[in-house]
Amino acid sequence: MIPAPFSYHRPASVADAVKLLSELGDDARPLAGGHSLVPMMKLRLATPAHLVDLHGITGLKGIRRDGDNVVIGAMATQHELLASDEIAKGIPILQEAARVIADPQVRYRGTIGGNVANGDPGNDLPALMMTLGATYRIEGPNGARDVAAADFYQGAYFTALEPGELVTAVTVPVPPAGHGSAYEKLKRKVGDYATAAAAVVLTMSGGKVATCAIGLTNLAETPLLATDAAKAVIGTGLDDATLAKAADAARAIMSPAADARGPVEYRKHVGGIMVMRALKRAAGLAA
Ligand SMILES: Cc1cc2nc3c(=O)[nH]c(=O)nc-3n(C[C@H](O)[C@H](O)[C@H](O)COP(=O)(O)OP(=O)(O)OC[C@H]3O[C@@H](n4cnc5c(N)ncnc54)[C@H](O)[C@@H]3O)c2cc1C
Repeated sequence: MIPAPFSYHRPASVADAVKLLSELGDDARPLAGGHSLVPMMKLRLATPAHLVDLHGITGLKGIRRDGDNVVIGAMATQHELLASDEIAKGIPILQEAARVIADPQVRYRGTIGGNVANGDPGNDLPALMMTLGATYRIEGPNGARDVAAADFYQGAYFTALEPGELVTAVTVPVPPAGHGSAYEKLKRKVGDYATAAAAVVLTMSGGKVATCAIGLTNLAETPLLATDAAKAVIGTGLDDATLAKAADAARAIMSPAADARGPVEYRKHVGGIMVMRALKRAAGLAA
C-alpha cells in the first residue's frame, strides 16, 4: 500500500517542532523512526497531512548517566540502547527487552521516544518503564512537564500527551546494585509482538524478596503494573505456592484482546506463566 499524500517538515529544534505541531494541529504527527507510524500510513489507518520529522533535532539524541538516573533522549534508537555501556552496567533489563523487539532493521531506526509515546499495548518498553519507575519529559506549547510512565497510558493509542506536545527524554532511576531483573516475552516467532510478557525488577535480602515491581505487556489496552502480584511475593523465598499466588493476582488485572495471538483465556494463562518465570529468573540473578 502507498500512504496518502503528506507534507514533510524537518525542524532543527524542539521549539520549532512544537510550534509546527501546534500550528498544524490534528493534521500533523511527529515522525521518529517511522516503524509504527509508516506501516499505519501504508495501511491508511493513519492519514496525517503533515509529518514533523524529529531527526534534525540533535538535542533529542544520546544516553547519559545523571546521578542515580540514566537519561535517554527520545531519538535514541533501540539499537543505541543495546550498545550503551551505561544501560549494560545499570539497567540490564532494558537491553534484555530491546533485544526481543522486532529485528535489527527495526531496532536501527525505531526510537525509545517513539516506542513509549506510540501507545500501542504491544510495545515492549512502556511496561518496562513503569516497572522501573521511569519519568517522561514532555515539552509543548505550555512549556515542559514530567509525567510518570505509570500515569502516561490511558487507553490503546491514548496517552497523557496534549496537542503539540512531544516526549523529549525518558529518565530511568538505576535500580540498586545487586538487584535482579528479567523480561519474559512469549511470541509466536522471532520479531513478533508479545502474546504475553512480564517484566520483574526485585531485590533480595537473606533469601527473601525485599522489594519487587512487576509490569505486564500486551495483556490489556495499556501496559500494567501488577502491584498485588508484587506485594504477594514480598518477604517470601518464592516457593511454588507463592509463585502461583502471584500469577493469579496478575491474571486478575489482565484483560487482553482475543486476536491472532490467541483467545483471552490462553493469553491470561501464559501471562501468569511469564510472571512466574520472570520472578524466578530475577531472583536467581539478584545478589
Ligand atoms: C516488523 C515490526 C515488528 C515490530 N515488533 C515490535 C516488538 O516486538 N516490540 C515493540 O515494542 N515494537 C515493535 N515494533 C515497533 C517498533 O519498536 C517501533 O519502532 C516503535 O513502536 C515506534 O518507534 P518509532 O521511533 O519507529 O516511532 P514512529 O513510528 O515514528 O512513531 C510512532 C508514534 O509515536 C509518535 N511519536 C514518535 N516519537 C514521538 C515523540 N518523541 N513524542 C511524541 N510522539 C512521538 C508518532 O507520531 C507516532 O504516532 C515493530 C515494528 C515492526 C515494523
